[in-house]
Amino acid sequence: MTKSRRLAIAVTAMLLLGVDLKVDAYRSAYPKVGAYESPDEEALRHFLAILRLDTQNPPGNEVLVVEYLKGVLEEAGIETRVFALDPKRPNLVARLRGSGTKRPLLVMGHTDVVTVDATKWKHPPFSATREGGYIYARGTQDDKPSVVAGLMTVLQLKRSGVRLDRDVVFLAEASEEGNRPFGINHMVADHWADIDAEYCLAEGGGVERTAGQVRFAAVATTEKIAHTISLVARGTAGHGSVPLQSNAIVHLSQAIARIAAWRTPMRLNDTTRAYFTGLARLSSPEEAEPYRALVEGRDLERVQDHLAANEPSLSSQIRTSISPNIIKGGYLRNVIPSEAEATLDIRALPDEDFPAFLERLRAIVDDPAIAVTRVESYPTRPGSAPSRLDTEAFKAIEAAHKKVYGVPTLPSMLTGGTDMAQVRARGVQCYGIGPVADTEDATLGFGAHSDQERILEEGFLKFVRVHFEIVRDLAAAR
Ligand SMILES: [Zn+2]
Repeated sequence: MTKSRRLAIAVTAMLLLGVDLKVDAYRSAYPKVGAYESPDEEALRHFLAILRLDTQNPPGNEVLVVEYLKGVLEEAGIETRVFALDPKRPNLVARLRGSGTKRPLLVMGHTDVVTVDATKWKHPPFSATREGGYIYARGTQDDKPSVVAGLMTVLQLKRSGVRLDRDVVFLAEASEEGNRPFGINHMVADHWADIDAEYCLAEGGGVERTAGQVRFAAVATTEKIAHTISLVARGTAGHGSVPLQSNAIVHLSQAIARIAAWRTPMRLNDTTRAYFTGLARLSSPEEAEPYRALVEGRDLERVQDHLAANEPSLSSQIRTSISPNIIKGGYLRNVIPSEAEATLDIRALPDEDFPAFLERLRAIVDDPAIAVTRVESYPTRPGSAPSRLDTEAFKAIEAAHKKVYGVPTLPSMLTGGTDMAQVRARGVQCYGIGPVADTEDATLGFGAHSDQERILEEGFLKFVRVHFEIVRDLAAAR
């Protein structure tokens, strides 16, 4: 029996049983009778199938996921369009039409994943092995849950027949990792009308669980901006038996030491202020003390020392950060090299005046033998104001987290970059959400981009449900 026929029978059965389609649109598309697949079963089936498609970027090959999604969506009678700069790296857009009373809601997920070293994996990285309540595969966290949640949400909305006040647009985008031209950059530059929206939901948030206790849901409302800086020291080449004061490696090392010792200025924005305030409320008095001091602006030297030593990710949230990550120089033991180079990974606060920051950095380096230059990487993610906290979208997200997890929602600033940056820069209010994750799991090496990656199966399923709740709340006709 075809799925559409099964569904037709299911709907007829529901009508006969007097089931109200609007009571719980998510479930009602699937009455639990006979051998019908439940929404959880279906979500899991799509998730495992998509995890098994190898979309390591490079080369990406996101066409595998796009073909899968297209098949599922078209079978459900949902219109899709595919946009590609490269046929192997397409983006898919599916649209459910609303009355147009409100502007569209964009839900997005990226279909590519970072590369793997298969020798480091207990289970093969594209096997999607289920073990002990977890699913193991590259992409289990970043970002295939968003892809499947977007898929399930449009499927369930379509099947439930719920009327919409706004279009719901699902974008499965290529090429997020490494930020190449094929994905969101292509969509924003060349097909903006197809994804233009009032609000967008994407990756980047998550529900934090520590020692088995769900504490809060973090929603990404802004993110830092990455810049690459090169330091090139030039000196005189010579014989290693005759040390020179102009030795490029010596100059470069001293410059790096000065940069490492430089504490860049700290400041809070609306998002981080709300985050630290919320975190203080949820923490023990002892843990809360540095967060409160930060918000109240007291003991800042001590608090910054504390965060730098104990909570590096929080330390990065209050400043433009600098990490020297590559150093190159020299080629023979007995040759003094004439050149040495270091590469700095700088993550700027969203409102940073970067040219002015670069001038300060040059003053810290304070060495005429060293050139400090910005490396242009294509394309730079743009900065923009944090997404607002007073919107119906943020309220819908808060309400869904409260309902499903019983926890508060805190706005948060990502230290890394996402494709929300490009969408936010076009004026869309974007919110990054995500599944429950154990804080301990990342330190065990199972987080996004780690040697291995896994997700709690139950956490994934709850996320799919929360995603649906949020979208229905924002889009269903009032
Ligand atoms: Zn991602």
